[in-house]
Amino acid sequence: MTRRGLFGVSAGAAAALAGAATPAAASAAAPARPARTGLWLRWWGNNSWEIRVPRGEGTATVLIDPWLTRFHTGTYSDEGADPRTPIRVDTDLIDRHVDSGELRADHILVTHGHYDHITDVPYLARRTGATVIGTETHLNLMLALGAPEDQLAVATGGEYLRFDGYTIRVLRSLHSATGPRARVAFAGTRPGRPPRRPRTIEDLVEGGTLAYEVASTATGASVVDFGGSNYVESEVARLRPDVVLLPPGGDSVHDYVPRLLAAAGHPPHVLPTHWDDIDRPLTEPAHDWGGLAALRAAVAQASPASRFTVVDHLETFVL
Ligand SMILES: [Zn+2]
Repeated sequence: MTRRGLFGVSAGAAAALAGAATPAAASAAAPARPARTGLWLRWWGNNSWEIRVPRGEGTATVLIDPWLTRFHTGTYSDEGADPRTPIRVDTDLIDRHVDSGELRADHILVTHGHYDHITDVPYLARRTGATVIGTETHLNLMLALGAPEDQLAVATGGEYLRFDGYTIRVLRSLHSATGPRARVAFAGTRPGRPPRRPRTIEDLVEGGTLAYEVASTATGASVVDFGGSNYVESEVARLRPDVVLLPPGGDSVHDYVPRLLAAAGHPPHVLPTHWDDIDRPLTEPAHDWGGLAALRAAVAQASPASRFTVVDHLETFVL
């Protein structure tokens, strides 16, 4: 796809094309500050984002938490996820997307070690040649799943890295905490040597959580992604992103939405992420697991000048 083809559509037009512009978004007040241009985002469901930025006559591609396979876990059912669900990777599906040129990657950024975030990354890394960034635990889990070791780059949060066409800022972050005790699901770390090969979803522990800012070096346009419903406020406070990718939830986090959007300077655009029931196929419209309305309301109240745009499965948002 050419750069012109990618960036020839405005954000509003893209949202309308996606059929996802909402009355709330359409009637929102003008952004608090004008958004920069030069970002092309596609949502692959869950917290899987494809980010393209201009590079020369083409584009560079950064993937966050890419997960195409989607196996049934019951995560959003009343019973919750079955910890002994076997993990699997649909290599034929990934091959089709990579071989067709539909999907490529210069970098793959991992927010945490859970099954719906890292399971496909080792195979995707091998197929795309992308550099993979994650914590020591994330990298150990992926090594145990067969990731190519020379493509892995460890991060702890605080890194501010420059590549051809984009910068990556790695933020210390936090995972969602749920239930009356505000606990992290499948918590734990795997430091040192890689563990035995993970077989079930409980083998894929959180391993610390990172957030990421990706910015175009050509235009300065930036997007920040949070793979869980929590964050470290002081890490966000320096940033002025054009787009925030924000998960619903955060019920046990004090002032989850207002504190984040204030720290990020009331960004022009907020897009929900991680809001679809992952037991449903990616080839169908996203099915809200139940957090979307509350997130929309919280954003409208905390940051009325921010535009809240819902992007559906495999649809795009262009700045
Ligand atoms: Zn998680």
